Amino acid sequence: MRRADVSVDCFILPTLLRVSAKAVDCGGIAVGREAHGLAIKLGFESDPFVQTALAGVYAAGGLFEDARMVFERMLYRDVVAWKVILDFYYQAGKYNETVKLFEDMKSSGVSPDNVIISTILAACRHTGNLTIGKAIHSYIVKSNVSIDNHIRSALIAMYCSCHSLKTAYKLYKEMHPKNLVASTAMVFGYSKMGKMEIARSIFNKILHKDLVLWTAMISGYAESEQPSEALELFNQMLAMELRPDKITFLSVISACAHLGALDKAKWIHLFVDSNGFSDVLSINNALIDMYAKCGSLSMAQTVFDKMQVKNVISWTSMMTGFGMHGEGSRALELFEEMNATGVEPNAVTFVGLLYACSHSGLVDEGRRLFKAMVHVHKIEPKHEHYGCMVDLLGRAKLVQEAIELIDSMPFPPNVVEWGSLLGACQNHGDVGLGELAAKRLLELDPDHDGAYVLLSNIYAKANQWEKVDEVRKLMKGRDISKERGRSWIEIDGELHEFLVGDESHPKSNEIHKKLHEMVKELEATGYSPDVGSVLVNLEEDERRAAVLFHSEKIALAFGLLVSTPGSCIRITKNLRTCKDCHSFVMLASRIFGREIVLRDRTRFHHFKDGHCSCNNFW
Ligand SMILES: [Zn+2]
Ligand SMILES: [Zn+2]
Repeated sequence: MRRADVSVDCFILPTLLRVSAKAVDCGGIAVGREAHGLAIKLGFESDPFVQTALAGVYAAGGLFEDARMVFERMLYRDVVAWKVILDFYYQAGKYNETVKLFEDMKSSGVSPDNVIISTILAACRHTGNLTIGKAIHSYIVKSNVSIDNHIRSALIAMYCSCHSLKTAYKLYKEMHPKNLVASTAMVFGYSKMGKMEIARSIFNKILHKDLVLWTAMISGYAESEQPSEALELFNQMLAMELRPDKITFLSVISACAHLGALDKAKWIHLFVDSNGFSDVLSINNALIDMYAKCGSLSMAQTVFDKMQVKNVISWTSMMTGFGMHGEGSRALELFEEMNATGVEPNAVTFVGLLYACSHSGLVDEGRRLFKAMVHVHKIEPKHEHYGCMVDLLGRAKLVQEAIELIDSMPFPPNVVEWGSLLGACQNHGDVGLGELAAKRLLELDPDHDGAYVLLSNIYAKANQWEKVDEVRKLMKGRDISKERGRSWIEIDGELHEFLVGDESHPKSNEIHKKLHEMVKELEATGYSPDVGSVLVNLEEDERRAAVLFHSEKIALAFGLLVSTPGSCIRITKNLRTCKDCHSFVMLASRIFGREIVLRDRTRFHHFKDGHCSCNNFW
């Protein structure tokens, strides 16, 4: 056109620029720059249409500085210009700036249209900015902007992610028909608050569910510690012939990790491979974590070794896995290897390493790593790191050093450090210091059920029953109840769950008969119940009965009853296992010739021939 000597005017340029913006992948930017030069030459540079279109080309090409410069130079900015720049910031993930720019726009007297309103609501959703979100809502109401389903969904999504579920639900109730975006937001919102029943009832009412909605519900279950439900739903989704994506897989893998069920873990791994996700970094990292939590370090290692590309998360997951299984020195070896490959450790890596040291009693190495973290790797220690160190020192009976460390912290100690110290006091029966730690902990978090339980354990151990009663009364008064102990065992791919004292299993009679037989056999070799962890002052018989029916013992009796003779028995427990159960299972591994893997709240115990991998150090 220019070669034909047709003159370019301020009407043709914006059109040309808009076309360029759509073609940024095939030379659009170059054309845009040429047009920009031409505009300057021809004196159209400050034409608002030309400027808006120019900003649009640069924005589409991701040229942040250029777009912003053109925009700043504009003397007159209309709603279209604002839309371009706001959308640009939003798409670039700069949500706070988007909201700030929107404020500028309002003060310049330009009224937003529906598209801008949805963009800003979405930005508020990302940043959790309820104040601006609410202000926009009242603006909509005041200025009679019609609330179509698009705006309504944006409002619902914003309220959901700002945890204002009541308002969100009100808007959702008035929505007819309910669309998928809004329904998914509601499911997400309720799941995040742990209100799974409401989330599920919304989910159930949607007839045509898409992958995003299914995934929202599945990840909701996975994150609210309802892994069985997550897996069940995943199976239902597969039955609908929907293909899972990366996010779905990550949720399901995390559910398997939570469950600690190795057969299920292997199944999902096969499924990941057959769907072509075996080279995805985040999936492989999740698989390492899953196998470690399902008790198979060797499978975790296989995944780790096969990975072509590893990042700091891959290394950290593997090290944490070693730590969980009491293989502290292997974690340290891996750390050396990682350093040699040039991958920089981060704060999480050191949490894993210090945790590994603490669970293997590697005091000197722990001290050395803590120093290296600060001085060599320039990582500021956080509560988690101090907590691990206090734990490490406390377990090694270096309580004085632990207290000195707490005193040296640059910030006031929180529940992590006091909790670790309290745990140490329980292990060593230190009543005075335990009381102090518990007091501090409860000042910070009066509803900390763990603190009450640990404190009463300390009193019970010292036979101070009046004090145990006092703590129990305190707990009752505050309506705090100890989480009930429960254990899972997987037999032929099926999970069986047992609560403490459980008699609900169809084979309950046989199980309890078996349990009593086991006690007899163990007692013949010198076992006697350790009732120190019973929190009530009962008669001796009753206290013995109380520990006998701990869920992991019931699960073990069931395992011995139904599993293939000689096979490894794997049990997962939701709480920390007590001393009595630990020696019970340890002895059972020898008497019944079984390898038993027990995962409790904090770590793994591998029992074999009357020994445990934790060396009674947990
Ligand atoms: Zn127990
Ligand atoms: Zn152990």
